[in-house]
Formats: sequence, structure tokens, C-alpha cells
Amino acid sequence: MAFALGSPTASQRVSEHDDAPPWTPPELRLVCLDIDDTLIDFSAASRRSLEALIGRTDMWPMWERITDEHVARVVTGELEYPDMHARRTQAFLAELGISVGMADVAGFEKKRKEMLRRSWRLFDDVLPCLEWLTAAGVRLAAVTNASGAHQREKLAMLGLARFFDYVAIAGEVGVAKPDPVMFQTVCFKLDCEPAQAVHVGDKLTTDAVGARDAGLGGVWLDRTGTGTDVPSDVHVLCTLADLPELLVSEFARVGVPVPR
Ligand SMILES: [Mg+2]
Repeated sequence: MAFALGSPTASQRVSEHDDAPPWTPPELRLVCLDIDDTLIDFSAASRRSLEALIGRTDMWPMWERITDEHVARVVTGELEYPDMHARRTQAFLAELGISVGMADVAGFEKKRKEMLRRSWRLFDDVLPCLEWLTAAGVRLAAVTNASGAHQREKLAMLGLARFFDYVAIAGEVGVAKPDPVMFQTVCFKLDCEPAQAVHVGDKLTTDAVGARDAGLGGVWLDRTGTGTDVPSDVHVLCTLADLPELLVSEFARVGVPVPR
């Protein structure tokens, strides 16, 4: 059953007219958050690093396109995650007319990642949101399609690791968002029902629609306010500062009471 935040489904509304108890909103026990471009301003850092390395500023759209194509090949199982970055970079350099072997690709990637590491930063709304969710007694999971060591390093370097009860990494789980198994695995690990969980991410289909299809609440973080049409049962926020209000208004209870 697709879960709609705060909105009973058609079958639930029908149940109000027979002997079944009326639908009530669930408790919220788990909030899942994507990492790149949801918590960490990854694209800006990645773009700056790429431009510094190749000495031009017009190639970012091509880099994004080639990256998306390679991530899709990982999702379909055509490509292994550990090989993805190098294959992507080799394809990118080839489109620039630079034909290099894997040793040179590895050197390029090493330099790019060193530059990236120096320019990661959190969005300003992240820490207040995570602190609010923690104080409310909600369990937290980071759910990412990127690689393991890379993502854990990012969370640790930026002081985020302490907030998360579980970090779900596609390369380790063996599936990637938007596969429902990814979201349902997180719920299973943290012992809650999908209907008691919400996932927030910057990609409408991969994050919000994928989570909704897995039975969680789907929240799209549209940081630039694109105004894109979204399904009626997917929520849209422009900032994580608005997440607490959304959760409080849509769930019977947020988190579990903290013992005094
Ligand atoms: Mg993201």
C-alpha cells in the first residue's frame, strides 16, 4: 500500500463507513535522509573540483550526464560499484578527446577526490534539523547510493556520524534507491514499519517517489524551488528547516517520549 503523509488512502476512507475503526495517522519512528545534495552540498564541491582540474567551466552538464548514466548501470547490475567512478571518468575524458588508460584515470580521480575532500560543506539547515529530530526521539538513517568508505568519511569529517543509527549504502546493501528493497531494508534494520518512516532526498524519483512506492512517506527536498509537478502523495520542501513542522502535522506522534 502506498503511504500518503497525513492522507488516508481510498480503501482507508471506505473503512470509515463499515465496522472497522477509523484510520488514524501512524506514529513516526524513523527519518531517513539522503546524503549528497540533501545534507552535504556535494554538487557545488564536485563542480569546483572538476573545473579546477580541467581548467574550464562548461563541462559540468556533461559530467553529470555521464555520471547519471554510470550510476544507472550500477543500479541495473551492469557495472560494479567499485569500478563506477573510474569508468565514468574515463568516459568523460574520452568525450573531451582525451584517451587515457586506467592508470591515468586513477591519478585524475585521486586528485579530484583530494580536492573534493577539502571543499565539502553542510547546508546551513542540516544541524538544527538533525538536533531537533534527535531530541524528538526519532531514529535516523542515512540512505545513499554512493560508495561506502567515501560516504562514511564524509559523515565523519563533517560531524554527522553521531546522529545516525544506521547508514545504508547501496554498494553494501546490494541494491540502490529507488529499489523498494533499499528502503525496506533500512526499516527492517531499525525495527519499524515502512508506514512509520519518512525518507527525505533531493532527487524526486530516486528519493521521494522511490520511498513512497516502498510504503514510506516520500519527501522531496527541492532546494532550488523548481516548482516541478509532483504526485499528490509526495511532499515537497525547499529547506530542511520546514521538516519538523511537516512531520508534526502529518503524524500522530513524532518519535518516542524521552525518559525523564
Ligand atoms: Mg542526493
